[in-house]
Amino acid sequence: MAAWRLTAYGAPVSLQEVPVPVPAEGEVLLEVTAVGLCHSDVHLLDSPEPMAFDVPFTLGHEVAGTVVAAPGDPALVGRAVVVHGVWACGTCDRCRSGRTNYCTGRGRAVGGGIGRDGGLARYAVVPVGSVVDATGLAPEVAAPLTDGGLTSYHAVATAADRLPASGGRVVVIGVGGLGHLAVQVLRATTAAQVLATDTHPPALDLATRSGAHVVGTPDDLRAELAPHGGADAVLDFVGADATIALGVDLLGPGGDLVVVGSGGGSLDFRKGALPQGVRVSAPFWGTAEELAAVVALARAGHLVPEVEVIGFDDVPAAYERLRRGGVLGRLVVDPRHTGPPAGSSVTTRGQGGR
Ligand SMILES: [Zn+2]
Ligand SMILES: [Zn+2]
Repeated sequence: MAAWRLTAYGAPVSLQEVPVPVPAEGEVLLEVTAVGLCHSDVHLLDSPEPMAFDVPFTLGHEVAGTVVAAPGDPALVGRAVVVHGVWACGTCDRCRSGRTNYCTGRGRAVGGGIGRDGGLARYAVVPVGSVVDATGLAPEVAAPLTDGGLTSYHAVATAADRLPASGGRVVVIGVGGLGHLAVQVLRATTAAQVLATDTHPPALDLATRSGAHVVGTPDDLRAELAPHGGADAVLDFVGADATIALGVDLLGPGGDLVVVGSGGGSLDFRKGALPQGVRVSAPFWGTAEELAAVVALARAGHLVPEVEVIGFDDVPAAYERLRRGGVLGRLVVDPRHTGPPAGSSVTTRGQGGR
């Protein structure tokens, strides 16, 4: 089968012929039905230095599929699932305390698409413990839930204990593939007033459609927050110098700065340079249990990823679009769809489309 692979750091994504993988006990074989493309893929591809993960491996860490073989659990065959992307060991102290996204026993690879073979192919083998039932969701809706949805959900959960009972105020910086889902998670799971900002005008419209109460420039948000002494939490989905500085500026005392984006920015972490009592965190992805909660939110209509479905042959051009910036929502590949790019792209929103 054909697979889009990372063959060397700094090299273009490469289409290679690889064998259809065979599941062992404890694994399942999926026919991949949708794969979300992520900025992290571009970080991997473009890394000037070799990263910790051995190459080559097939990219694609936002995976939805149908189980076609399950040696240990034949009842799973035919089920529509999504894949939890952190292939945790299940036995370390972190895993035993339910924090599988911070597993210390999984080795260097994170999971499929990040150090192990991922979903940018017709078939993928994944651990049986990584699959979460996604029955009833369209594949292009389900796939972005696994990273865009889950990482956003976990970031919101990270800040939840800082929100007052009355709801408080939460700022979302960067309304892209993750940020627009964070707005929706905040609306669905908290009583907070949600304020969102982005430098890309269509992203501001997406923030409004996603349910943000206040959408605008940093100055607009500053004016809105001033009477309240600042935000209770800021979720930064960019993570650049400028957005981290903006986050600190918008936070009130005792607030929570949650840096999700891998923009390479830094923070002057000195007492006196930050609001009193501020907490800074850099959460990573989320747990399989949280992914099940995310799927439930989507089934209930609370999470509606903004997606653009593209064909398997369009992957290099899609990564180029991610590099350039300005992609609205998530680009999702249907590996079953190959052929010339012309006419192969359709835009869907929610559970419509194919
Ligand atoms: Zn990702
Ligand atoms: Zn572990």
